[in-house]
Amino acid sequence: MVFMEGKGKSKSGGRKGKEESSLFDKVWTLANHRGFVFPSAEIYGGIAGIYDLGPLGAKLKNNLVQAWREFFVLRETNPPVYELDGSTILPYDALKASGHLDSFTDPTVSCLKCKKWMRADHLIEDSLGLYVEGLSPEELTKIIRENNLVCPDCGDGLSDVSVFNLMLGVQVGPAGGQTAFLRPETAQDIFLDFKRVQQSMRAKLPFGIAQIGRSYRNEISPRQGLIRVREFTQMEIEMFVHPRELGSHPSFGRVRDVRIRILTRGQQMKGEIEPVEMSAGESLEKGILPNAYMAYYLAKETLFYKSLGIPYDKFHFRHMMPEETPFYSGGNFDLEVELSIGRKEIVGNAYRTSYDLSNHMKKSGKDLSVDFDGEKVVPEVVEPSFGVERAIYCILEHCYREDDGRGWSWFQFPPKIAPLTALVVPLVRKEPLTDISFKTYENLKENGIDVEYDDRGSVGKRYARADEIGIPFCVTIDYDTPKANTVTIRDRDSRKQVVVNRDSLTETISKLVSGVIKFEDLL
Ligand code: AMP
Repeated sequence: MVFMEGKGKSKSGGRKGKEESSLFDKVWTLANHRGFVFPSAEIYGGIAGIYDLGPLGAKLKNNLVQAWREFFVLRETNPPVYELDGSTILPYDALKASGHLDSFTDPTVSCLKCKKWMRADHLIEDSLGLYVEGLSPEELTKIIRENNLVCPDCGDGLSDVSVFNLMLGVQVGPAGGQTAFLRPETAQDIFLDFKRVQQSMRAKLPFGIAQIGRSYRNEISPRQGLIRVREFTQMEIEMFVHPRELGSHPSFGRVRDVRIRILTRGQQMKGEIEPVEMSAGESLEKGILPNAYMAYYLAKETLFYKSLGIPYDKFHFRHMMPEETPFYSGGNFDLEVELSIGRKEIVGNAYRTSYDLSNHMKKSGKDLSVDFDGEKVVPEVVEPSFGVERAIYCILEHCYREDDGRGWSWFQFPPKIAPLTALVVPLVRKEPLTDISFKTYENLKENGIDVEYDDRGSVGKRYARADEIGIPFCVTIDYDTPKANTVTIRDRDSRKQVVVNRDSLTETISKLVSGVIKFEDLL
């Protein structure tokens, strides 16, 4: 997260694109119907912007988080990345020092009659198509007055623009206890625990600390399903580096040739919207990115999101404009995905310099510097900050497939994140087929493959249900199974089928999921 000092500037980029689309409605409705996501506490009317993930959504999320953890944390060797599981409740002093109490705000207006609250910048952008990022409340009020903007709901007049702090407060202990807040980002725990982690792991610069967990923001107008919610999951890494060492990343060679798409500031000034493409190495040599760590993460993110089913030409990194960037930042690059509702940020990459550690040192009086060959150093930080719920929506929309002649719409989730890997079905609901099917299902489960068993309805209907929730493979037990010990694997994408020996099923499916073999290789 980054936020702007003073003037009540918005913490998020300007909005692009129209608000609703039929594709968004379709995908969101399907996601609700199929139990991926639904409003929290729905039977009591719920709270706007707070959702629960149902059985399929929870699996999709867990698979996404695990894929991220493996790719960005567990497999990283140089520099190493340590994990943290910090508290979601943080004390007043910590958030005062981080600047959130004073500056983590959005500009708001309310209707004088119906009392509806809305984001002032969104209202102006929606009504007038003006880009107002970075304007003060006074400047926004002036625009509202000069253009006679009114409440979009009831048509009445609007208040002056004021700023609204997005943190949710909590009272810890009985009356008169300590004032605290639900964390607005996972990053702050990492800064607060930096010295503890460094000492306990005997870590030497450079090293990273990662955290996966909930963050809370009291958004004024939650909207667009999972895109702007009040409680969400972040996966953040703070990479701590000696300020002199930012120019080279020890493992940069692994990503140097990865192609990345960047929308530069120069392009944005000219009103261009098509990003330029270059290798991670070139982005550094041309001085487009501020340091090797930023280039390293942009390359890794490109590989990661491509592997999750978001097409390469549907996302890019936008260099945030000066008015969207906090004064202490050395450069911010948002990963934006093209969706039917416009371009949406799903990862914020920020070169946070030593701002956070320095501020916590000043306010707490504690020394957070580390030893580097006898020198006391306050490290600088490069932070990739991933939002899980937004990524889930992007995956749902980009993996959604209209009926392509099969008679139903379906999800083409990559096998490694699909909520379920396989569905085991007996051709008909008769012994011994049902018994063998159930045993096959149990065996796959015992071997760590996430499968379901279904013997209701015609086999065609069961394939359809599997496609609809994006199950990549169906395993059919037919009359040959008792005789020849063979099963048929049906591929969701091609709808082709192949017969394999039942004893090699676990291995075959594992290889298909990990990508060691492709379905065509089996044909
Ligand atoms: P930020 O700290 O604002 O740069 O946010 C980092 C990431 O957290 C974003 O790229 C989003 O993926 C996610 N995020 C931030 N705010 C929200 C929100 N209100 N709802 C859902 N995800 C969010």
